[in-house]
Amino acid sequence: MNDTLQRFIFEATPIRGELVHLDATWQAILQRHDYPPRVRDLLGEMMAAAILLAATLKMHGRLIIQIQGQGPIRLMVVECTNALELRGLAHWQDLPDSSDLELLLVDGRLIITLEPNDEPERYQSIVELKGKTLSAVLGSYLQQSEQLDTHIWLAANGERAAGLLLQKLPSKDPGRDSDAWNRIIHLSQTVQTHELLELSHLDILHRLYHEEQVRVFEPSPVCFRCSCSKERVVNMLRVLGYAEVRSIVQEQGCVNVACEFCNQKYDFDSVDVEQLFASSEQHQAPRARQ
Ligand SMILES: [Zn+2]
Repeated sequence: MNDTLQRFIFEATPIRGELVHLDATWQAILQRHDYPPRVRDLLGEMMAAAILLAATLKMHGRLIIQIQGQGPIRLMVVECTNALELRGLAHWQDLPDSSDLELLLVDGRLIITLEPNDEPERYQSIVELKGKTLSAVLGSYLQQSEQLDTHIWLAANGERAAGLLLQKLPSKDPGRDSDAWNRIIHLSQTVQTHELLELSHLDILHRLYHEEQVRVFEPSPVCFRCSCSKERVVNMLRVLGYAEVRSIVQEQGCVNVACEFCNQKYDFDSVDVEQLFASSEQHQAPRARQ
């Protein structure tokens, strides 16, 4: 059950569900940054949510959930690939003694971006962040954007992060078991935070839906993986330009770039910098045309 996504459906209904449980994946994030508990738990909930949402898409690429605020929490970013590889980070300052999302964010915005691998375009939606919990915010966002009834439950602590998603798909036969959605939502609302965090997927399904006919699929593994690389950092430095990068080397002796997601350090000394620009067009002296 650890670090897996569990898909399931309710037989003879248009309702599908997913459960996710993050252990080592979550610990890999927490080892890299020391987050205060309220920021940590919110980030954990976002990680669980990113997996749940990515798993509802048929896209090959990345799903990025961002929260931006003017208050104590400035930025939170979680990225999830279609292979269910996750990374995330948070920026914060002077936290109040509250876990109310509107107080933590202040004029917050929720930004959801899809980056398909095989298309140059990205798809982005930005909504005002309204709601006291991330589950509430995402639930109302999904309701509006996908026009599918979707409910989401999220939980995180210093040990684990977990979530449950239910979605009602368009049905050709709405008359069949027309009460199923209301009944299943009602059952799901009894789930406790500690149950989401501590019980196995199968135990949660049994605890909530033992009177329903649930079919479960093979669980899919979830893991922490950062997409940073030396090549990407090199490209970033090239975009910055030779003059700028050389002035950093002159001031500091070398260029140190650390990935904010995974803390991986990339260092370039003056020789590296010369080589890096020697092979790129930006540094070539413009040829005189006479
Ligand atoms: Zn990284």
